[in-house]
Amino acid sequence: MYRIIKSVPKSLFGKGSFNQMGDILDEMRKDKDSYFVFLVDDYFKEKPLSDRIPLKGGDYIIWVNVDDEPKTSLVDKISDQIKESQSHMASAVIGIGGGSTMDYAKAVSVMLTNEGSSTLYQGLNLAKVPAVYHIGVPTLSGTGAEVSMTAVLTGPVKKLGIKGEFTPFDLIIMDPELIKDCPKNQRFFTGMDSYIHNVESMDGINRNSISDSYAIQSQNLCREVFLNANLTREEADEKMMVSSYFGGLSIGHSEVGVCHALSYGLSYVLGLHHGIANCIAFNNLEDVYGEHVREFHKMVELHEIDLPMHISKEFTKEQVEKMAVTAFGLDHMWRHAFGLEWQKHVTTERIIEWYNLM
Ligand code: NAD
Ligand code: ZN
Repeated sequence: MYRIIKSVPKSLFGKGSFNQMGDILDEMRKDKDSYFVFLVDDYFKEKPLSDRIPLKGGDYIIWVNVDDEPKTSLVDKISDQIKESQSHMASAVIGIGGGSTMDYAKAVSVMLTNEGSSTLYQGLNLAKVPAVYHIGVPTLSGTGAEVSMTAVLTGPVKKLGIKGEFTPFDLIIMDPELIKDCPKNQRFFTGMDSYIHNVESMDGINRNSISDSYAIQSQNLCREVFLNANLTREEADEKMMVSSYFGGLSIGHSEVGVCHALSYGLSYVLGLHHGIANCIAFNNLEDVYGEHVREFHKMVELHEIDLPMHISKEFTKEQVEKMAVTAFGLDHMWRHAFGLEWQKHVTTERIIEWYNLM
């Protein structure tokens, strides 16, 4: 079964490219009523970047808090707020932030043109109407959310993306300067998302020549960033941004696997962010991803990362069971990792064993 991938049609890459955004938007201001909505991670509220956002006329900023991973409830609230405050549609939605903000921007732009709650669109190709034009400006690198065709959301019953041809950004602006001040741990956790995407993409039945090609190059870049002590931070940031982009394209053409299934359970039940949840899970998956996990351990050590250990001591029985049910339900990931008969290899008991190692 082959699948059609839609990725981002236009991209702008390079140090300082964020400065071109004003000119790009000016070309899109068709009449005096045109306006843009900026969804910006509230981490930047008091930071110099906020003064560089090219606001004009009726443009406005909505600050987004990403302490929790993106929720359908907040997507609905933001979309309703935009719809109610204006008599006509925004010319574009522009997301500035990490993977969470990328996903909010993608989801809100879909929800501005599609009726009802975003919970109705968690799944594949459920949106009926094309989204409002949307632009992504990543300030963290690793998730690949800037290029993927999904906006991952946690709803009342599931963590599942709004996935489909209307979701990807129309344009992304990748300026490595925007990630330069990210603290060590966050940079590592988000960066490892790319590393793990590549490992999982290349280890499963959905892999193919195109997903492998992106993953191999993405992985080379990731290794340069986290294993080559001779790179300057500036060189590393540029490479990391490309690694994230290629890693996102790789899983688009293939699939994620065991680590992501376990990580979704951790995020859904404990509210852990994707990057750190991935690292906690991957750290304990030597039985599946062997040499890659050993390489991961080396990177943790080299960068002196504070990786949470022995967290399973605090899990309640109910929490572990709920995590296992959540993870078990992600059958497309298990099928990719273990083949069509994955249920012969994976049971909720085995999943609970993995959780208890963490
Ligand atoms: P994030 O967006 O959740 O942000 C993590 C933290 O870093 C937040 O506190 C944020 O305010 C802060 N931050 C953002 N930019 C910063 C900067 N330049 N410097 C310092 N701090 C900064 O982190 P993430 O790892 O980029 O994204 C994780 C999210 O991405 C999860 O919600 C996950 O579900 C999603 N995701 C989506 C896809 C996709 O294909 N759509 C793929 C992987 C992950
Ligand atoms: Zn991921």
